[in-house]
Amino acid sequence: MSTLDSILEEINKAESIVILTHENPDGDAIGTGLALYNALKQIGKNPDIIIPEYPRIFEFLPGTDEIKKESDIKKYDLAISVDCATIKMLNGFSNYFEDAKVKVSIDHHSTNTMFGDYNYISPDAPACAQILLVVLEYFKIEITKDIGTCILAGIITDTGGFKYSGVTSETFKFVAELLEKGINVSKIYRRVLQTKTKANFELNRIATNRLEFFEDGKVAFTYITKEDEEKVNSESGDHEGIVETGRDIEGVEVSIFIRQTEKGCKVSMRSNEYVNVSDVCLLLGGGGHVHAAGATMQCTIEQAKEKILRQLKSVM
Ligand code: 5GP
Ligand code: MN
Repeated sequence: MSTLDSILEEINKAESIVILTHENPDGDAIGTGLALYNALKQIGKNPDIIIPEYPRIFEFLPGTDEIKKESDIKKYDLAISVDCATIKMLNGFSNYFEDAKVKVSIDHHSTNTMFGDYNYISPDAPACAQILLVVLEYFKIEITKDIGTCILAGIITDTGGFKYSGVTSETFKFVAELLEKGINVSKIYRRVLQTKTKANFELNRIATNRLEFFEDGKVAFTYITKEDEEKVNSESGDHEGIVETGRDIEGVEVSIFIRQTEKGCKVSMRSNEYVNVSDVCLLLGGGGHVHAAGATMQCTIEQAKEKILRQLKSVM
């Protein structure tokens, strides 16, 4: 029996199901989670989706008003984690996963630690949402407008608007099908990617002013502090996209962005061509994809900067 057959069997058997994703969820995490939520409802299941905090730009996605912050159910029959590479990244809600009778991980990170009983991992997929598309088609669940909208939000987010190298012909076939179904792709694109909150714009302005170059202009580095976020009344997700500014400058191979949080320095790293930032971030205790990765470091911004630049020197 294939992994997907086993997962479908577990879904059919389960009386209680919970859908989870990583903390500070991006559009792929929320889009994939909600697509799965809507799909399971469509086949007569009554799942919970637990996401304590998420950016309000995603509030238009179908199903967001049913997202729970926590649950009274302590032991679910089935827990499904999406777009999450490690159990640690489930963070405050990992207990729902760990305590569930059966655990499933659906993900596209090559650094996924296979923390489920069943793991359906496709590192080549440009977004976890695109894997879900394959999964739902295999399960013969119809991709309705609602489900399609959620999947599209995930794909647009994780491909930077269809521009990263991981995009496949399936990505565009799916978008073509959505257009045929009458979904306003342009509008969703603008909402999830193009439109910036005021706080996001202000943080970007601060980070752009601070941006420095290293390694003959091949490395761009910037950061924001907790004080910066307080000053602009930052909300969940308002730091998203800042790391892209450095990456888009001519000659830059690696862009580094550090966000100071309660837990330490949250590092975001992006590369354009030859540097595998997932390998670099693994050495820093994190992980991710070849061209987009991250880590959390327990030190000051200065210490993190020095350590990262030292690691990068050997691969530039
Ligand atoms: P971002 O920079 O957008 O936070 O993350 C980029 C990619 O790296 C995402 O796919 C994310 O899941 C992954 N990533 C970010 N931080 C960590 C981390 O601390 N550990 C692991 N394993 N992956 C991370
Ligand atoms: Mn993703």
